Parts: sequence; structure tokens; C-alpha cells
Amino acid sequence: MTLGQRLRHQRRAKGLTLDQLSAVVGRAPSQLSLIENGKREPKLSVLQAIAGALGVPMQDLLRPEAPSRRAGLEIELAHFQREPAYAALGLPAVRGGRRLPADALESLIGLHRELTRLLTEQSATPELARRANQQLRVEMRERDNYFAHIEAAAAKVLQSVRHTTGPLSQRGILDIAAQLGFSLHYVNDLPGSARSVTDLRNRKIYLPQVASGKGHDPRAVVLQTLGHFVLGHNDPADYGDFLRQRVEVNYFAAALLMPEKFATDFLRDAKADRALAIDDFRDAFGVSYETAAHRFTNLVTHHFGIPVHFARVHESGTVYKAYENDDVRFPTDVTGAIEGQPVCRKWASRTVFSSDDPYSSFYQFTDTGKGTYWCTVHVESTRSGEFSVTVGTPYQHARWFRGGDTTRRTVSSCPDPTCCRRPPAELVESWAGQAWPSARVHSHLLAALPPGTFPGVDAQDVYEFLQRRSG
Ligand SMILES: [Zn+2]
Repeated sequence: MTLGQRLRHQRRAKGLTLDQLSAVVGRAPSQLSLIENGKREPKLSVLQAIAGALGVPMQDLLRPEAPSRRAGLEIELAHFQREPAYAALGLPAVRGGRRLPADALESLIGLHRELTRLLTEQSATPELARRANQQLRVEMRERDNYFAHIEAAAAKVLQSVRHTTGPLSQRGILDIAAQLGFSLHYVNDLPGSARSVTDLRNRKIYLPQVASGKGHDPRAVVLQTLGHFVLGHNDPADYGDFLRQRVEVNYFAAALLMPEKFATDFLRDAKADRALAIDDFRDAFGVSYETAAHRFTNLVTHHFGIPVHFARVHESGTVYKAYENDDVRFPTDVTGAIEGQPVCRKWASRTVFSSDDPYSSFYQFTDTGKGTYWCTVHVESTRSGEFSVTVGTPYQHARWFRGGDTTRRTVSSCPDPTCCRRPPAELVESWAGQAWPSARVHSHLLAALPPGTFPGVDAQDVYEFLQRRSG
């Protein structure tokens, strides 16, 4: 195609018609036209003859760049129109010749580029991201969410700043940064999409000036950034690599904020008192509840043989994060992804929202098809709504936890649709065909919309809402 365009460009520059050129090189004008339109590849001898007739070196005709901007766009248009995605639309192919106005050509190219971008984005995000995420979840489960090499790296860093006991202070973090040769700078114009930006040349780490209530522990952000360097991360090769690095630096930060030795000593004492509690663990190390809950899963199976699950669930019932090595059966879509799926209404992650006091300690036993689980749940408010953070364990391990003697108990038969997926018959009777909710799309979730009566919206919630409103 490019060769054809270059050839035509040279022929016109010399003021030759196809007929005139064909007479010189001894080929039919129709053949030359096919070559110019990129529909036929010329033999070397023909190309030599053409180059000779036009008085240009053959290498010039063979150069890979388009002879003009217009020609480049025409080539691009032809490429786009040959793509299967375009063919699938069933639209006619537009010829890029001289009769196509420049603005129409520009417009078509702009639309094609945008279409390609959207299609690429769609196929890269849900499908690849979900597969990578699942793979990572399998690896985390296989090692009980315990990463020995990161614990070792964190312990080495703590040693280098002579940190010998308890939680890590802000001072300790500055020492660690200095030890690794970085200075910290708090600025108010960090890009909104970045947690931090590091100037590698000047060894400066730029961090957001701490805005209150934003939820991120500023210490964790510094440590996560340093984690990339301590753990020797390179530019991620693919999405799976990107996710793995995120998991590793988050782990690294937690392993510094809640050092393995002190954290396990603390948990061992609590277990001896049969009073394991995530809130105590959180308070002892001055971290967020979620950080404490997550760190708990790193240590408690590896050191004490207690299998656990962890879930962060939005008040709408959607799973945002989940981990398990205790065989609890999280809801999954056809691809096996958990994120974006609705949790059973009987699970503690959701019943907590309808409890009298969701903000105090909440415990529950749940009978499921896979056995009985005990869970402790904490609710936190964020700018995107309320989330429950759950840590659970099989029945027989509940005795090590505070609240392990709770009398609250529910029965879940999910994924049996009669458990909680199907709205009550009388509500269906009264509202089916009369409801039209518009889904609030969680675009940041990896998962596609969970299917159902209304994609992405819980039918029962919709019906109950209408029921309430209509008195
Ligand atoms: Zn259910």
C-alpha cells in the first residue's frame, strides 16, 4: 500500500499519466493501477523498470513512510477497513482516492482510531485483568497469603534503621527513606491518578499533602513506594505483573507497619487468652482496620494454622476484594472472578448493614453448604459509600476469637437461587413488568456487570424500594 502510494506520488510529480508510464515500462495501465492501489505486489524487474522510467532510485520507492500526510491517512484508512472489527459492522469500504474530501478522510480516521482504542481497552481490561487477578489469588492461597521473601526484606530494612520494637513511627519511616537514599516531599499538585511520584534522578519521592479523611495512611503510601525499590521491581511487563507488584508493595508496607515478630507475639498472646480481635490488632499498631485485617491473614495461617477468609464488600452487596484459604465459597461469575459479584444476603458481610449498631463489634455464625463459618465484621464509611470488612474462619477456630461465643446465626444456601437471589413471589407478582431501574455502574471494578433481571442492579432491592415508596 505504501509502495503504491509512493509510486503514484512520484508519477504525478513527474506529470505522467498511467497510460504514459505503462507505455514506457511495457505493462498494461490496469496492472500499474493495481500496484498503485496496493492490490498487487510488483515483481522486482517491473519495479526496476518503473523506477528507471520515473528517474528515481528504487530504494526511494521502497521506503516505509508515506509520501505525504494525505497519503498516510489513505493508507491508514485502508488498513482500518481491512480489520475484522470493521467488517463485522457490515459497512461499505470507503475509497481513499482524490474524490474523498480531506475533512471526510480526517473524520473517518479519527473515528477509526477511537473505535480501535475502545475495543482494545475493553478487551484488555475485563478479560486479561480478571485472568491475571485470578491467577494471583490462586498463588496467594497456595502460600497462605504469606510471602517469606517480603517478610525477610522488611525485617532487613527494619534492622538497618535499628528498629527493635513495636509499631513503626513517622520518624522511623523518614529514617528508612533516608537509609535507601530518598528524600520525601509533600506537594499539593500531584496528579490525581497517582499515589506518589518518584524522581529517580534526584531520589525524591513526591507525596500528596495529607488531606484528612481520604482514607489512605500516608505512612503506607511512602512505604509502598519504597517497596518497589527494595523489592527490585522493574516496569511491569503486563497486567499480571502490575497487579503482582501492587500486592507485593502493599504487603511490604504492612510488614513494616506491623513487623512480623511483634505482630505474631501480639497475636500469640491474644490467642492464648482466646481473645483474637482485629480491632485490638489495629489499635496496637495504629493502622487502619483493613490493613490490620489483611495483615492478620498474612500471619495467622502461617504461624497458627488458622485458615481464614477476608472480604471487602460494598453496602450494595458487591465484593470489592476477597481472599480465602478456608474453602468458603465466594460467589463467582462464569470466568471464576469474585470481584463485582453479589454476596449472599445472609452472610455477615451484608447482615451487618441491617444490624442495630453496625459500627460496633459484629460477630456471626453462618451455616453454608461448605460448613459453618464464624465471622467478625467492621463497617467503614468512605466517599464511595459504606464498606464491610470481614474476617472469617471455619467454626472450629472461632474459639480463639473474641466474639467466638456469639449467638447470632444465619443459614445461607447460596448459590441455590431460592436462598436470596430470587425476590419473594408476592413482590414479583406485584412489580414484575412495572419496574425500570437504571444501574449504577462500578466502572473501576474488574468484573463485568453481574447478570440478573436488571444487569448490575439487585432486583429484590428494586422491588422492595418500590414497595416501600408506594406504601
Ligand atoms: Zn444467599
